[in-house]
Amino acid sequence: MDFSSKLLENAVYEISQLPGIGKRTALRLALHLLKQPKDQTSALSNSLLKLREEIKFCSNCHNISDVVLCEICANPKRDESIVCVVEDIRDVMAIENTGQYRGLYHVLGGRISPMEGVGPQNLTIDSLVNKSKEGIIKELIFALSSTMEGDTTNFYIYKQIEGMGLKTSTIARGIAVGDELEYADEVTLGRSILNRVPFENSLKLG
Ligand SMILES: [Zn+2]
Repeated sequence: MDFSSKLLENAVYEISQLPGIGKRTALRLALHLLKQPKDQTSALSNSLLKLREEIKFCSNCHNISDVVLCEICANPKRDESIVCVVEDIRDVMAIENTGQYRGLYHVLGGRISPMEGVGPQNLTIDSLVNKSKEGIIKELIFALSSTMEGDTTNFYIYKQIEGMGLKTSTIARGIAVGDELEYADEVTLGRSILNRVPFENSLKLG
């Protein structure tokens, strides 16, 4: 792409670094911003800067939060004996939307994937294992995507906490293997949390 302006070229380059955005789309977005009032670009830039600089991760569940302890962990009405293990905040949002779950979460920050160079040490598994040792948690619900990486991660955690006397279960999903949790519809997801099955069952089937 030949640009008549270095400023435009830089902006297009930066926008095109975002996932799913090619050079053409980046150019369209940059030209769109030029047509809008300056305030709008300021608001966009400021919100992105603040997001990056001020965001925190909950000290208990590692979910993205504006404060040290997230709203869910700080809520005394939530049942701290049940912890739902998920990959990221999108899963928390999907499960919260069902309105069916009253326990807490543990956000791993991804799943074990040797292909992508993600090992257990890159996730918050140690924190989960340490929390499990404290004796407050009675049940872990694995709610990772039903992919090979998700299954590997479930099994790895299961082996780490084996012998601690924790109940482990997986959400019984009526959706196809490989479907991401965030795309599951709320009714199905809500039902699958209520009808979760012991993790050991999924091992026998596998
Ligand atoms: Zn939290």
